[in-house]
Amino acid sequence: MEPIEIVFLGTASSAPTKERNLSAIAIRFEGEWLLFDCPEGCQQQLLKGSISYMRIHHIFLTHMHLDHVLGLPGLIATMQMHQRLHPLFIHVPQGWKNKALQIIRLAPKTNFDIEIKEMKKGIVLENKGYTISAVLLKHEIDCYGLIFKQEDKAGTFQREKAIALKIPEGPLWRRLQLGNKIKVEKKTFKPEQVMDYSKAKKGVKISYIVDTLPTRNYHAAIKESDILVHEATFSQKNVKRAKETMHSTALDAGIAAEKTKCHALYLTHFSSRHKNAQELENEARQAFGNVFVSKELERIKLEK
Ligand SMILES: [Zn+2]
Ligand SMILES: [Zn+2]
Repeated sequence: MEPIEIVFLGTASSAPTKERNLSAIAIRFEGEWLLFDCPEGCQQQLLKGSISYMRIHHIFLTHMHLDHVLGLPGLIATMQMHQRLHPLFIHVPQGWKNKALQIIRLAPKTNFDIEIKEMKKGIVLENKGYTISAVLLKHEIDCYGLIFKQEDKAGTFQREKAIALKIPEGPLWRRLQLGNKIKVEKKTFKPEQVMDYSKAKKGVKISYIVDTLPTRNYHAAIKESDILVHEATFSQKNVKRAKETMHSTALDAGIAAEKTKCHALYLTHFSSRHKNAQELENEARQAFGNVFVSKELERIKLEK
């Protein structure tokens, strides 16, 4: 199995700078790329990151602010130019389908199908080996945090043990596989008696939280993420501005990572006011130790 990979396609908020592109990430899972946000400049970043846009089947737009979506018509036009045939699914916040259609109509007509799906809280995509969930954030307009979760690998069922214990084949086996105790003629059996948990492992969890005021709304959803990518638009020096524009500070991001017991925090979506992102990293570290400033086109491989 290939390692799961994250590529930071951009790390700036509102407007690109000479050094930073607008924020987006791509996640690779088994040869497929999932794109979270599609800002202006995203196409070139995909090229630089050697990410084939023909392998992108799902694009998730956290919200419809221009700095997160304006790359979409250009990307669709390029896909059409390169004779894409696979359908493309674009996931947008609930109630924003028409706005998404307006943006997409800027692209020429395509020979491949484009389907727009509205996201609400909970699982928005269930594919072989992983799910994507959405959680409502607190921003000027409807904005969703996105959570990639690889399927957990359960233990293996040892049928010879079940047979030896005279547990009848059928629904009772299934219940044990799902981790439940069962009763057979007044005898109780525990899953450990038939399951081998030595190869069990938890799937990788990656959370992407951009454009939000600090709120506990999303804490449960991102709990124990291996990687939390969190916006840190401002530092505490600009906390007033952060509140006005409904963004988080680096300290807010650190607190969120700490409260939710995430393993690593990657800061992103920096205001051009902050020339020195190291300051933001230091600020977040007051609350959470394992924090990094995301770099343009940085790649992280995750294997469990
Ligand atoms: Zn933004
Ligand atoms: Zn925004």
